Amino acid sequence: MSDESLLMIPGPVEISPAVQAAFSVPPPSHTAPDLIAAFGSALERMRAVWKAPAGQPFIVAGSGTLAMEMAAANLVAAGDRVLVLKTGYFSDRMAEMLRRLGADLVEVEAEIGDAPDPEKVRQALGLYGGVRAVFATHVDTSTGVRLDPAPIARLARERRILSVFDGVCATAGEEFDMQGWGVDVYLTGSQKALAVPAGLALMVVSDRALEARRRLPGPPPLSLDWDAWLPIMKAYEEGRPSYFSTPATNLVLALDAALGEILERGLDETVDRHRQVAEGMRAAWAELALEAIPVRPELAANTLSALRFPSGVDGKLIAAIAERGVVVAGGLHPAIRQSYFRVGHLGHCVGQGEWLERTVRAVGEALADLGHEGDPEAAVAALSREIG
Ligand code: PMP
Repeated sequence: MSDESLLMIPGPVEISPAVQAAFSVPPPSHTAPDLIAAFGSALERMRAVWKAPAGQPFIVAGSGTLAMEMAAANLVAAGDRVLVLKTGYFSDRMAEMLRRLGADLVEVEAEIGDAPDPEKVRQALGLYGGVRAVFATHVDTSTGVRLDPAPIARLARERRILSVFDGVCATAGEEFDMQGWGVDVYLTGSQKALAVPAGLALMVVSDRALEARRRLPGPPPLSLDWDAWLPIMKAYEEGRPSYFSTPATNLVLALDAALGEILERGLDETVDRHRQVAEGMRAAWAELALEAIPVRPELAANTLSALRFPSGVDGKLIAAIAERGVVVAGGLHPAIRQSYFRVGHLGHCVGQGEWLERTVRAVGEALADLGHEGDPEAAVAALSREIG
């Protein structure tokens, strides 16, 4: 952020000084040696962060939504039966994309704040034959709910069905073993737990998914086509210049720096730190008697907290928190939008204990201002105990 406010929404997020320095250079050409080296390195580092040593990474200028669209358009044609696990706003977006492709949609429902039970997914797969792909949102940012991808991926793998996970609010903040679990596409955007400015659509794709693209009855729109992008990714990995559509060159430099930081710290350590911070934030919210949207603690994401306004408090709380120099987000799920707010704790900020404390203090003091009981300093202390 340009002023002194701390950006604590679930993306975009604060970035590290090293990532900012990597980004803040005069725009390099897409054929400059430094850019080629960073592009190739970022692709290789994505394989490590995705835990997909044999996967094919793609780095494309765009948003998380574009990454979702690419996955859908390369795997699904009109009439294909697909399963979508409903978790909230972002799974609804995925469903809408698939509907627009003419897919025959089977939706597995869950209550708001819950994730579909794998047993219901298994039943749906038994009930509806011929499913081509399963789509799920790892963390639905509208509810703060994390589903467990492993059993869903296993169900798909056993039936030779493709599995696609939207990791936009999860990748590098939540455990994900793409290759070990046999997942076909794991996608994200740059502005979340990777802690890069917004503007890159990122995904790693399995061989099976690339094969499925080739078996589509017709090619997807050109700019979304994995086959159009593949030679570019291969060229950069081989250290050669190449062109199909101009990459976001400064963002690629920043991405390589951010992935390098994550791997230097260790991927598992980074995910563990997100888990520890999430536990600390939950301890703080409990101290303030704030109730979470996820209906069971094990469903609460590492990367954000979605919290109901206590009685007598409304959206004014967000402005009162902002007055204390911390920016948090409003609700997003259309059915409950006015009744909750969201605090991001993902990416670079998880290593900044003082920022996390400042966030909890701002929420606690803003609540106190609005007449809600709860001791901000006790909440900060509860956080500090957990995060060390
Ligand atoms: N999926 C999830 C889970 C998200 O959180 C978001 C963004 N908040 C998106 C998809 C869409 O990403 P973008 O806003 O970058 O298009």
